[in-house]
Amino acid sequence: MASRVDLDGNSIKTLTICMIGAGGFIGSHLCEKLLEETLHKILAVDVYNDKIKHLLENSNQLWADRIQFHRINIKHDSRLEGLIKMADLTINLAAICTPADYNTRPLDTIYSNFIDALPVVKYCSENNKRLIHFSTCEVYGKTIGSFLPKDHPLRQDPEFYVLNEETSPCIFGSIEKQRWSYACAKQLIERLIYAEGAENGLEFTIVRPFNWIGPRMDFIPGVDGPSEGVPRVLACFSNNLLRGEPLKLVDGGQSQRTFVYIKDAIEAVHLMIENPARANGHIFNVGNPNNEVTVKQLAEMMSEVYAKVSGETALEVPTVDVSSKEFYGEGYDDSDKRIPDMTIINRQLGTCSHPLTFAICIVLFQNIETWLLCPSTFAIFIVLFQ
Ligand code: NAD
Ligand code: UDP
Repeated sequence: MASRVDLDGNSIKTLTICMIGAGGFIGSHLCEKLLEETLHKILAVDVYNDKIKHLLENSNQLWADRIQFHRINIKHDSRLEGLIKMADLTINLAAICTPADYNTRPLDTIYSNFIDALPVVKYCSENNKRLIHFSTCEVYGKTIGSFLPKDHPLRQDPEFYVLNEETSPCIFGSIEKQRWSYACAKQLIERLIYAEGAENGLEFTIVRPFNWIGPRMDFIPGVDGPSEGVPRVLACFSNNLLRGEPLKLVDGGQSQRTFVYIKDAIEAVHLMIENPARANGHIFNVGNPNNEVTVKQLAEMMSEVYAKVSGETALEVPTVDVSSKEFYGEGYDDSDKRIPDMTIINRQLGTCSHPLTFAICIVLFQNIETWLLCPSTFAIFIVLFQ
């Protein structure tokens, strides 16, 4: 591999990266990227490794000696500090991060997203190690515009809904709306990391993903996950389509989301890893502001694409409305709209060769056979919005 340079033309030093949560959706794509395109070494930490088995099992691969899996639960394992000490950089992805858990398992959610992340921050700070921590766009909560009457003209003003790292407030619901346990825990760990940077010189970058989607995301209930489990919306809708049942629109599916394809988002993380001088001390939104749909539109698009791909005729009643109480239980609440302001990330990491206005894609499972045979590594079908 020819010597590679960073955005400022300096050659990139080979890193040892302690990646916690490497066995999850984002971790598995980040491992692939780093192994295929760089010479960095990965100490992959997770309780599961099914989603990175293809990277671990084949000892003939060029990268076989550059990834080591450590089956560690970071809640209680003294080996964690040793791994962080061995690494130049720690990336923390470990979390409970499916909305169905936030109001039904709030304690686990808060422990996972705040308490369990504390030692990681502490070990990085005490050992002068760089940290890239995965937070969430959910720390913004609801938009200011959502408090205006439905037909108020200011709702159309970007000042009232675009989410900016430095100027937007974090607006959550009341404590009994336990949906916000996740956002609140993520916000507090962000504040702690920021304070470690300010008071103790911790070199950190915080990433706020805006609905990254793609293969290996979550699970399909009863196939590669618990039958009672509720994954995020892409997997929920895929599950409905594969089972030939109507897609469930929570509270009418009026909430809006911007989606970005995982491989585009991973480009941004790759730039953060290899450009510490530009990324340290920053919080970055990573999403596609130009790719917004309501959940109802998403359901319609997925139904249409699925009918084309599978050859099955679309259901007569393709969607049904369900109340959030019925679907998620007591204490659910929702983010109304999520448009990332991409100014800061573009200023710090965008160049002509790396425009961070990502390709517009949405992914769907290709067909039921492929998917059932190989739930977490199935092929994907990419449809461009435009
Ligand atoms: P994921 O659930 O697929 O991956 C998380 C991984 O962390 C899992 O493999 C899990 O086993 C591991 N993990 C959890 N607790 C652990 C523990 N105690 N010890 C060891 N490993 C543990 O989730 P993901 O979508 O890959 O998300 C990764 C990060 O990005 C999370 O912090 C999440 O909050 C954040 N995020 C993701 C999105 C998105 O669009 N996917 C959006 C917002 C935030
Ligand atoms: N949602 C839905 N039907 C489902 C699953 C989710 O209408 O089967 C909605 C959910 O209420 C939310 C949006 O889809 O408004 C996105 O949910 P997701 O679980 O992907 O997570 P979020 O973007 O809220 O973090």
